[in-house]
Amino acid sequence: MELKHEIPYRHLPIADLPEADRSLVEFSRQACGTSYSPYSGFRVGAAARLDDGTILTASNQESEVFPSGMCAERILLYKFQSDFAGRTITAVAVSARQNDAPTLREVYPCGGCAQVFVDTEKRQGAPIRLILCGAESCTVVDTARRLLPFTFEL
Ligand SMILES: [Zn+2]
Repeated sequence: MELKHEIPYRHLPIADLPEADRSLVEFSRQACGTSYSPYSGFRVGAAARLDDGTILTASNQESEVFPSGMCAERILLYKFQSDFAGRTITAVAVSARQNDAPTLREVYPCGGCAQVFVDTEKRQGAPIRLILCGAESCTVVDTARRLLPFTFEL
């Protein structure tokens, strides 16, 4: 029997997002400025809004020992889990720059980060809305689980 997964998502111009989401996108864009990415030249910024309105940001950090680098999204989520236990992330925006310009294509989390988004949703008991941005448009999913329908679980 062949089965299918459907992934509900919205794709829209960033300009059509509500003001609070556009603000979160702007925080993610500013976070690209703190990226350390001399090897790939791919600067990623991520911003989270917590339930009390607090904004957290992070950027990707590369290492001379390539596997020791880390994605912006996972740095953001581990920062949250380390310093804001008991709080809830309601939304995360992710943006990227390459060659000193915002990437045209929306930036989507890698598989490892998708897993940690789902782990974080489970830990906090609430979904995280993801706003994944390109230069002008974005993809919005209401829960990170949409990105990883066959999520690993112990
Ligand atoms: Zn990643």
